[in-house]
Amino acid sequence: MSVEFEAVIGLEIHIQLSTASKAFSSDSAAYGAMPNTQVSPVSLAHPGTLPRHNRKAVELAMKMGLALNCEITRENRYSRKNYFYADLPKGYQITQFDTPLCTGGFVNIKPKTGNPGKVRLIRIHMEEDTGKSMHDQDLNDSLIDYNRAGTPLIEVVTEPDIRTGDEAYAFVTEIRRLVRYLDICDGNMEEGSLRCDANISIRPKGSKDFGTKVEVKNMNSISNVKRAIDHEIVRQTEIVLGGGKVEGETRGFNAVSGSTFSMRKKELVNDYRYFPEPDLPPLLLTDKDIEAVRHLMPELPEVLYNRFTETYGLSEYDSGVLTDDKHTALYFENLVKYTGNFKAAANWLTVVVRGYLNENAIQLEDFPLQPEKIAQIIALIDKGIISHSAAAQQLFPELVKTPVLSPEELIKKLNLAQDAGEDAIEAFADEVIAKFPEKVEEYRNGKSGLLGMFVGEVMKLSKGKADPRKTNDLIRKKLEG
Ligand code: ADP
Ligand code: MG
Repeated sequence: MSVEFEAVIGLEIHIQLSTASKAFSSDSAAYGAMPNTQVSPVSLAHPGTLPRHNRKAVELAMKMGLALNCEITRENRYSRKNYFYADLPKGYQITQFDTPLCTGGFVNIKPKTGNPGKVRLIRIHMEEDTGKSMHDQDLNDSLIDYNRAGTPLIEVVTEPDIRTGDEAYAFVTEIRRLVRYLDICDGNMEEGSLRCDANISIRPKGSKDFGTKVEVKNMNSISNVKRAIDHEIVRQTEIVLGGGKVEGETRGFNAVSGSTFSMRKKELVNDYRYFPEPDLPPLLLTDKDIEAVRHLMPELPEVLYNRFTETYGLSEYDSGVLTDDKHTALYFENLVKYTGNFKAAANWLTVVVRGYLNENAIQLEDFPLQPEKIAQIIALIDKGIISHSAAAQQLFPELVKTPVLSPEELIKKLNLAQDAGEDAIEAFADEVIAKFPEKVEEYRNGKSGLLGMFVGEVMKLSKGKADPRKTNDLIRKKLEG
């Protein structure tokens, strides 16, 4: 008898909020400064210092909660989570314990394999980050940089609704896309501004009970989150099939070997001795505060995606690519203010413009052409004034170099217009027909797909100056007439 297993996965995602100063002090929260230069007595909780709420951090955290369909808590209190660790200079972390800022909520995911679905959230709470230990900088000692200590974080905790590595991949990708849309975090996993811990257990398929979970940490990319989960599922399944028991523990992930390794066993439950933070007043939020933040929210990718597919009639693929990041979506929205040819607009942005950006390693924010110019090119193609290939390969790169000129001026300057006269097209057509007598025969015997070949040959002879539609009509007349 063989038992099939399924995985049960819950994720905890730490998101560093991109505020100028720390969560409870005016120290700079900027990344990359000289170690230990952004640490005031407040960040160290020296006697006599007092923490203060950073309003901006609360605003950014609320944005995430609203984007994830959460309920926002009106009466927020902070607690002290006490533990001893070298990277925690205060000996405790200020965190939200029993009143997380956001509760409930969900994220819609579309995993690469399996079905689209909802991942429910348990909570999002605010807290402060720790410092950073570095074990590989010095031969004998571990070094510590306290600059990060006290920077604002939110932690998103999911229900154990995730079942596969692909689903986790889709979830974290969606979270990263959202924090970038909302401009609350750069979403950079390598630098640690977005960190994901995965809780994984397995159970016989069909069972309602949960198995013992293992928490895996230290994945520095989204694909490593998936790899760690996939590996952990295999490892746990093998243990159970071999008659063993999965041990509750914290494991790390080795990206080189693709496997997880034991870091520490979960002995008894950690005793953090939570108690209310005595130095901070409760943070009270009113409906008005919440509405004010809602007012600051940009359009979310899901809303844009639905508009792109439904209103503009774009494919799911195109809509996905266009809403992948906010700048592309906004550029597209501006572009379709000037053209009704949505499909061409999508192609230009996702193929021609994107190709240019990739080749030149620049960001769309730094792209010099205004959307209106791209719309003008599309109109010129639609009117038959220039061919698509001449527009994409010759006009476009020149226009990027000299955006002050209009597309029309450049078409003239580069002699790109499809302005071959009827007579010229007719002469080319006759030439092509004379050159391929067997193909003419085949066409007349019913192989009508050959028409495109004849048109292509005329286009070549005309060096792109023949209007393809006119050429098409003319050749058909000649072959059939
Ligand atoms: P802990 O107290 O150990 O941090 P929590 O109950 O707070 O555990 O849950 C942390 C995360 O682990 C959540 O995302 C939750 O969905 C997930 N989780 C809880 N139990 C399991 C389980 N048996 N298997 C997989 N994930 C789990
Ligand atoms: Mg936990």
